[in-house]
Amino acid sequence: MTFQTQEQYQFIESILFENLGHQPKVLDFQFFYGGNFNLAVKVTVAEGDYFIKWNQGDHEEMFASEARSLQVLSDTGVMSIPKVINHGKIVDKEYLMMEFLTASYKQANYWQDFGQKLANLHKHSNAQFGLDFNNYIGALRQSNEWMEDGVAFFIEKRLKVQAGLALYDRKISEELHAKFNQLYEKLPSLIPNDKPALLHGDLWSGNVMTDNQGFVGLVDPACYYGLREAELAFTTMFGGFETSFYEAYHEVNPIENGFGDRIPLYNLYPLMVHVNLFGGGYLDAVEKILKKFLN
Ligand code: ADP
Repeated sequence: MTFQTQEQYQFIESILFENLGHQPKVLDFQFFYGGNFNLAVKVTVAEGDYFIKWNQGDHEEMFASEARSLQVLSDTGVMSIPKVINHGKIVDKEYLMMEFLTASYKQANYWQDFGQKLANLHKHSNAQFGLDFNNYIGALRQSNEWMEDGVAFFIEKRLKVQAGLALYDRKISEELHAKFNQLYEKLPSLIPNDKPALLHGDLWSGNVMTDNQGFVGLVDPACYYGLREAELAFTTMFGGFETSFYEAYHEVNPIENGFGDRIPLYNLYPLMVHVNLFGGGYLDAVEKILKKFLN
């Protein structure tokens, strides 16, 4: 065990002590790697398996908002969401402790069932777009300030924020930023408005797990009431979702014709998040989309 691992191990032991009320014997300890700077482990004790992630405490309220987002999804009762044990701070580190979702096998109708469940989650609506707290998308803050119009919310609270940040950080040029401004003018005629739908908010295959019944379980949400087409579009960005998922979704909660053509517009948001988090590798795709829809 390296010194660093030893230190992390002791940190995990303090979290277990604080939350289980005694110092359990750690039976197994396994690191997990997510998309972010957070460190994570699966830890096995006599009580069961837990998933604990932590960071240096430099992202204010990150785990508090993740715990709340998990709770919002869990309250719908639509699908498995790991139960949060606690979140807190020990010395300079912040952590989030939850149940570990065991993924021993997948049911044969896993994807169909998932499609139906997501369609039902999206039926949870609200008077306005947004949420009563802000959260994070990856390591970036995501504002959920309420707005009445879904397309306006997508422009103001999603695209404008990311394009503005990218310009500020010199990740995009003034010229490209101006193209975003032109697109905002056109967007209301390109994407349909819809009722606010409760979204997971970061639905790529890395956040799609399996529960102990062999059905879907979702982790790492960045939820808000938004346009459900934006969520479905994001599922196509890195792939991994089967056709039966989309068919089942559509049967339960149909989407308007022409969705396939609109996918790139919605994916400008996750693409710009990636530009801001990981750099220019995603810019080509952004430029192509802007060019296509501004012609
Ligand atoms: P990050 O916020 O750093 O992206 P994630 O919450 O996405 O971290 O966790 C990283 C990975 O750990 C996920 O992609 C998933 O594979 C796994 N994971 C996350 N939460 C759980 C959980 N409760 N049970 C089992 N595995 C999990």
